[in-house]
Amino acid sequence: MSKQRKQPKNQKKKSSRGQKQTPKYIFVVGGVMSGLGKGIATSSLGMLLQQRGYEVTMMKIDPYVNVDAGTMNPVEHGEVFVLDSGLECDQDMGNYERFLNRSLPPINYMTTGMVYQTVIDRERQMGYDGACVQVVPDIPNEVIRRIRHSQSEAEAQITLVEIGGTVGEYENLLFLEAARMMRLESPEDVMIMLVSYLPVPSMLGEMKTKPTQHASRTLNGSGLQADFIVGRSEQPLDEIRKSKLATLCNVHADRVISAPDSENIYEVPLIFEDDNVSERVLNAFQLPSGTQDIAAWKGYVTRSKKDERQVRIGIVGKYFYSGEYALGDAYISVIEAIKHACAHHRVTPKIEWLNSEDFEEEDASLIDLQMYDGIIVPGGFGSRGIEGKLQAIRIIREQKIPYFGLCYGMQLAIIEYARNVAGISDAHTTEVDPSTSEPVIDVMAEQAQIVKENQLGGTMRLGAYNCDIHPRTLARRLYQKAHISERHRHRYEVNNDYREQLEEEGLVFSGFNPDWNLIEMAEVPHHPFFLGTQFHPEFLSRPLAPHPLFKGFVRAAMNR
Ligand code: GLN
Repeated sequence: MSKQRKQPKNQKKKSSRGQKQTPKYIFVVGGVMSGLGKGIATSSLGMLLQQRGYEVTMMKIDPYVNVDAGTMNPVEHGEVFVLDSGLECDQDMGNYERFLNRSLPPINYMTTGMVYQTVIDRERQMGYDGACVQVVPDIPNEVIRRIRHSQSEAEAQITLVEIGGTVGEYENLLFLEAARMMRLESPEDVMIMLVSYLPVPSMLGEMKTKPTQHASRTLNGSGLQADFIVGRSEQPLDEIRKSKLATLCNVHADRVISAPDSENIYEVPLIFEDDNVSERVLNAFQLPSGTQDIAAWKGYVTRSKKDERQVRIGIVGKYFYSGEYALGDAYISVIEAIKHACAHHRVTPKIEWLNSEDFEEEDASLIDLQMYDGIIVPGGFGSRGIEGKLQAIRIIREQKIPYFGLCYGMQLAIIEYARNVAGISDAHTTEVDPSTSEPVIDVMAEQAQIVKENQLGGTMRLGAYNCDIHPRTLARRLYQKAHISERHRHRYEVNNDYREQLEEEGLVFSGFNPDWNLIEMAEVPHHPFFLGTQFHPEFLSRPLAPHPLFKGFVRAAMNR
C-alpha cells in the first residue's frame, strides 16, 4: 500500500537511546456487548500504525472450543473466512487483510480448541517431561507462544491481538490471563484497549457511561487495567462523557477515544486519524509517530461516497435469518467485494437479500428478477433452497441478467445449464442427491472417504490453488492474466465426464487447475455477464485492490 517507507521503519527497532526496540503488543477486548465493531476498530488502528511506517500484524482469538471456524454455522457465527493456507477462520481476519492490504498467515488466528489441541498433543508426546499439565499456566503459555510466533514471523514492531467476546465471559478468561502474564513480564510493551458500548436510551436522550464502567471493573477483576477506552456509540463522545470515563475507569483523559457509528467502515480510520488516535497510541509506547501516509485510503473513501448512480444487486442465499432479523454477516466478504468494485466504478450499490426458498413457493413467478442489475449466488452447502436457486438461475440466464456464481453458485449454474440447455434432465450434484444418475457435480475422489467417515472438520479443498485461464474468454479479459491463484472451500467439483458434452452445448470452461485436473471457472457466452467460479474471489478483494471479476460484474450491472 505505501511505497515510501517512513521514519520508524528505517530506524527499525531502535529506540531514541539507540537500544533495540522491543516488540509491542496491543490487546483489544470488548465491553458490554458483542457486535460493536471491535474488529473494525482493531483493523483501523492497525492500518493507521502501518501507514505511519510500522511493521504491523493482527491476530484474532476466537474463544470457541471449535478447532477452527469451518464447522460453525454462518447464521450464528458469520462468514467463514479462508486464508491462503486454507485455515478456516473468523470474518475479522478478512477485515484485517482488507485494511492491511496484505494476506495473513494461519498463526494469526486461534481458538480455544486449537490451543487445547496443541497442549494435549504436546503432552501425549512427553513434551512436558512428566510435569503435571495445568490449565494455568500451560494454556495461557501456549497462547503466548502463538502470539510471539506470529510477531516474529511478521517481524512485527506492533502486534494487535483481538480477543473475541466481551470481558466477564467465562470463555475468554484464559486469553485475558495470557495478556496479564505478558504484561507482567514487560509492562511497557503491552497495552490493553477496551472497546465498549455507550448506549443513548431513547427515553433518556442521554449517553450513559455506566455499562462501560462495569466493563472496566470486570476487566480489573482479571488483573488488567485498560490503557485506552474506545467508546462506541451512535454519536461522538462529548467532553463530559470522556472525563467521566477517564476518572471512573482509571484511564488518562487523552486515552478515551470516541468512535461514533459510521455508515462506511472504511471511514473509521479517517475518523480515528482526525482524533490523532494512532499518534496517541505511539506516544503511550514512547515510539516516534512517523509521518502518516493515508492518501490512497482517503482516495478510496472519496470514491466510495454515495453517488446518484446506483446498481441494484440481488444476493440469493439462505443464511440471512436469525429469528426475525435478516443479517448479511454470512456473506460479508461478498458484500465488501461488491462495495470495492462499486467504488472503483463510482456507483453506489444497493444490495438486497433474496431468500432462495422463496423461489420454491407456488407464487415464485411473482418474484421479479428483472428489477435487478445483477444477481449473485454465493457459496453454500446442503440441499435447503437448492431447487429455488436453480429456478432463479434459469430465469437469470434466459432473461440475460448479469450473473455471478461463487462456488456453489457455479456448480448450480452448471446443473441448470445441463438440465435446461444440454437436455440432461436429471443432472444434479451428489451433495444433494448421492444416488443421482447424472452426477454433473460430484464429490472429489479424495473427499469420498472423508465424507463416509464424517471427518468433516478442516478437510475440504481449502485455500489458495493455481488456475490457468483460457484465452478468448470473459475471465481472461477481466483478469488480463493467464495464471492466477485464488482461495477455495469446497468438497464437490465439476465431473470431467460431462465436460465435452457441456462444451458441445455451448458452455465455456474458462479456468482450469492443471495439477488436479479440475474445472475452476465456467461461462455462458452471448450473455452480458454469466460467470461462475469454483473458488471464492471475494476473499481476495480489497478496497485498494478491487477484484477484477467483481469489477467486471459491476460494470455489466451498470450497463443494464
Ligand atoms: N457445497 C459445495 C461444495 O462443497 C460448495 C461449497 C461452497 O459454496 N463453498 O463443493
